[in-house]
Amino acid sequence: MDHAFEKELEELERSGSLRVEREAPLSKLCSFRIGGPAEYALFPKNESGFIGVCSALRGAGMPIRVVGNASNILFPDEGVRGAVVFMTAMSGARFSGRSVTARAGERVTALASKAKKKGLAGLEFYYGIPGSVGGAVYMNAGAYEHETAEVLDHSRCYDVKTGEITELKKEEHDFSYRHSAYAGTSRVLLSATYLLTPANEEEIGGRMEDYMARRKSKQPLEYPSAGSVFKRYPGYFTAKLIDEAGLKGRAVGGAQVSVKHAGFIINTGGATAKDVKELVKIIEEELYRRNGIRIERELIYF
Ligand SMILES: Cc1cc2nc3c(=O)[nH]c(=O)nc-3n(C[C@H](O)[C@H](O)[C@H](O)COP(=O)(O)OP(=O)(O)OC[C@H]3O[C@@H](n4cnc5c(N)ncnc54)[C@H](O)[C@@H]3O)c2cc1C
Repeated sequence: MDHAFEKELEELERSGSLRVEREAPLSKLCSFRIGGPAEYALFPKNESGFIGVCSALRGAGMPIRVVGNASNILFPDEGVRGAVVFMTAMSGARFSGRSVTARAGERVTALASKAKKKGLAGLEFYYGIPGSVGGAVYMNAGAYEHETAEVLDHSRCYDVKTGEITELKKEEHDFSYRHSAYAGTSRVLLSATYLLTPANEEEIGGRMEDYMARRKSKQPLEYPSAGSVFKRYPGYFTAKLIDEAGLKGRAVGGAQVSVKHAGFIINTGGATAKDVKELVKIIEEELYRRNGIRIERELIYF
């Protein structure tokens, strides 16, 4: 590996703005528990650490690949040569009146709990989603008839190609179902500001507990997974179509269509990315054969 690159990483580590894991098993760093080693798993702890990492990667001619809490990602079995940048060490949130600004790596479940304690409503649907703020804005994460687009006011981002920091206003996010303007661009979210509504803390907490109870009763949370594998198809509940196709319990290796929730593929132990991809293909082909529709994946293949 590039000597200058190693030196830059060491300097960032010494300054306390970066944590580095070398030959890091990605299976331990994602919710699916699947994936080979990453040559470098990089955890910047603040913005200067992140910008330093980007400049080191650019200098070494290595691609800059960023994830949040990796709860919607399938890492490859062969691992990743080069680096994966995890934003999760850049956490924390600052409240001011009705608004809260959260750093990219803040877990959305923790953010919802903090907002509740401040008597601010609007983020209850985040409670139980295992992602970070960056991933939630990128995906326009949502649940129980609510989504990120409703409460986000603006975000700050860093363009990994140009090195420019800019602010995106709400309307510039181009939000739609599980999509935002971040998708497919070189922009990385640094922080997001949400506008919330003052409300009774107990009522907010009641909604959060209700959502969590619904998750526990409907979702196979006892197994590693990446949540719903497919997006809703307009006019259909994909999980229901998968169930009706008789695919519940269908398995390839250690990957199985959950019996509890047909929209989830679970890792019953030792599942590989190859197993998951094969199972995804079986589901896609069967739904096309039976229903004539091409369902779209929500799960991201890294
Ligand atoms: C048990 C379970 C339940 C789930 N329930 C829900 C649910 O109810 N609703 C829902 O919407 N999702 C759900 N998910 C899926 C997942 O948690 C969400 O999509 C979440 O928003 C992903 O966030 P993340 O930080 O894990 O992002 P990752 O999985 O790490 O990344 C997702 C995408 O976002 C990009 N990204 C991440 N951080 C940044 C950043 N700072 N800047 C730019 N791009 C970034 C990545 O490059 C990647 O393309 C569930 C998953 C599991 C395992």
